[in-house]
Amino acid sequence: MSDPSPTNPASDSPSQTGLRTLAVVVPVFNEQDNLPELCRRVKAACDSVADLTWTMIMVDDGSRDDTVKLAREQHAADGRFHLVQLSRNFGHQAAITAGLAHADADAVVIMDADLQDPPELIPELVAAWREGGQVIMAQRRSRAETGIRRVGFDLFHKFFRWLSDFPIPSQTGVFGLMDREAHQELVKLTERNRFIPGLRAWIGFDQRTVFYDRQDRAAGEPKQTLRRLVRYAMDGVFSFSYKPLRLMMSAGIMVSAMSFVVALYFIIKRIAGYETALTGFTTTIALILFLGGIQLIAIGLLGEYLGRIYDEVKNRPMYIVKRATLDKGVKSAR
Ligand code: UDP
Ligand code: MG
Repeated sequence: MSDPSPTNPASDSPSQTGLRTLAVVVPVFNEQDNLPELCRRVKAACDSVADLTWTMIMVDDGSRDDTVKLAREQHAADGRFHLVQLSRNFGHQAAITAGLAHADADAVVIMDADLQDPPELIPELVAAWREGGQVIMAQRRSRAETGIRRVGFDLFHKFFRWLSDFPIPSQTGVFGLMDREAHQELVKLTERNRFIPGLRAWIGFDQRTVFYDRQDRAAGEPKQTLRRLVRYAMDGVFSFSYKPLRLMMSAGIMVSAMSFVVALYFIIKRIAGYETALTGFTTTIALILFLGGIQLIAIGLLGEYLGRIYDEVKNRPMYIVKRATLDKGVKSAR
């Protein structure tokens, strides 16, 4: 109650006044063409916010170009830039997870390195946090991507909203901010096939959105191959919903019911004496193939869940750190 700051009397959150720390977590994989520009823009954006000390944690996800060299140069020139180097390529979500584990700040921002997530939005994210928001999601007002990726993203978001027990606001990705409390809860979630937007929705707290226009990638090709994106979408579905299993069950019940009706029809026909010769060979083949297909799909679906259970049981780490310019921030998750 003795808070001297007159700025925002409505909230009792400690996050809004005084000097606060921010960590910007960025996964980088072969981003040599974007890195210098990214660092420059993040620095400019963060420096423009009053009462904020910041660090940026770049997580190198096994880059094979000059990304690491450039990141080291950034660190040498300005100690606020940090590099966590993974031992190989572990993927976007694992790299972010590594960055989150190394961040120790009042709030963390997650963003991609290709400048699709504009660093200039950071002040707005921080403002929403200072107003009391704990999980701030950056939501795209528009998207610059076109073609199959675009259609895929849109379809996935619709599908995910319908399927998931924890819907994420459509048009949000990893870009956003979490306060310390939310960040620490997220770090505690140790599941291996990670879908961070879903996990972030799952943890709850005061969730808010901020809008921005999504640009196309500034330089280079997308590093997430289409196959990876599809896998990522499947993680989103299978980690957050049992609906596929339930749908299979409904399909099974429907097919059984139908077959019962069809069988009854033929039996009555036979008893009434309308049919004597053996016909319906094509129908039989079609039905066998149809049911065989349904059964294989159902087994495949089970396999998706089973594989994920297997990943959990093996209990391998999500990533391995080769070298880092800062200590592990958040104390070990468990
Ligand atoms: N990335 C990564 N590991 C990977 C693939 C991508 O760390 O295996 C990084 C990449 O450097 C970028 C971010 O993840 O900062 C998003 O990748 P990309 O732009 O290729 O994905 P998209 O925008 O198509 O989802
Ligand atoms: Mg991108």
